[in-house]
Amino acid sequence: MPRYLVTGGAGFVGSHAVLALLDRGDEVVVLDNLTQGHRAAVPAGATLVEADLADSGRVAEVFATWRFDAVLHFAALSLVGASMREPLHYLAENVAHSLRLADAAIKAGCLRFVLSSTAALFGDPDRVPIDEDCRIAPSNPYGDSKRMVEEGLAWAARIHGLRYAALRYFNAAGSDPAGRAGEDHDPETHLVPLAIDAALGRRPALTVFGEDYPTPDGTCIRDYVHVTDLAQAHLAALARLETHGSCRYNIGSGNGASVKEVIGAVERVSGRPVPHSMGPRRAGDPAILVAASDRLRAETGWTPQHGSLDAIVRTAWAWREAHPKGYADRG
Ligand code: UDP
Repeated sequence: MPRYLVTGGAGFVGSHAVLALLDRGDEVVVLDNLTQGHRAAVPAGATLVEADLADSGRVAEVFATWRFDAVLHFAALSLVGASMREPLHYLAENVAHSLRLADAAIKAGCLRFVLSSTAALFGDPDRVPIDEDCRIAPSNPYGDSKRMVEEGLAWAARIHGLRYAALRYFNAAGSDPAGRAGEDHDPETHLVPLAIDAALGRRPALTVFGEDYPTPDGTCIRDYVHVTDLAQAHLAALARLETHGSCRYNIGSGNGASVKEVIGAVERVSGRPVPHSMGPRRAGDPAILVAASDRLRAETGWTPQHGSLDAIVRTAWAWREAHPKGYADRG
């Protein structure tokens, strides 16, 4: 039975990827320090090792205890806004932890590595939709930290024969359609859960960050991709690595939605108004990020199953309605 190490498997995208692996019968060890992730988000059936990636002794122990077919590396600091306030912290944590993890994997003989990378690599893109050949020019330290990790992995590929997949996520949203996992960040900064909570009256009115962008309605356009589709992209990338060399894929639905359109989708799906007001821009936010995922589709056969914004919002709504306190409801 294949066995995978999933760092950050107690987090939003990580926990959905763990579900996808378990659903097909794989064995999963989750390594998570639970500072951002939740114990209750680790699906039953996975083994949880509660440890920090900074603890290289523990990481080495994990590789000595189990033999892994691949590492899926989700654990990271991932907020654009916070990275603009603490750039060196973001760069140091994300780069050092990722490269040390890859080093430990290589030393243990595990030469398959899937990295959670980001659309933030592209900054203000030179063209839209964004394909893999677009200029890499991050406009915030978070994006730059992932660029540095991708470059480090490229060296490891050349020198050690590591095969890695760098998966550039656009905006992950939604939740497991079977209701087994959902999105629960503390603090929550993401648009979809904040808009839903505003509609549910659980949070104050949403602030729209900027109405003066060069977009049709003036608000930022993003590519919201269902987290379950994103999880499936990891399985597709893993299969690809077995037969081909390293790869870099942009992953989105290919449809852009503005902040106002997301608010509209939440109102449509829920039948409730989303109280909101206009505010200033958030530092580091590019106007438009929409993925061209043609390469992933063509090379792996990946096809999003939950592509529409309404499908994304519907599953996100169902989970947040059922779990008013997020994972705190589940112990
Ligand atoms: N956004 C917003 N108000 C909020 C949170 C987010 O207007 O309270 C906007 C944000 O500026 C961006 C989009 O919603 O254009 C998605 O932001 P999110 O933080 O969800 O994801 P990111 O694009 O930073 O990965």
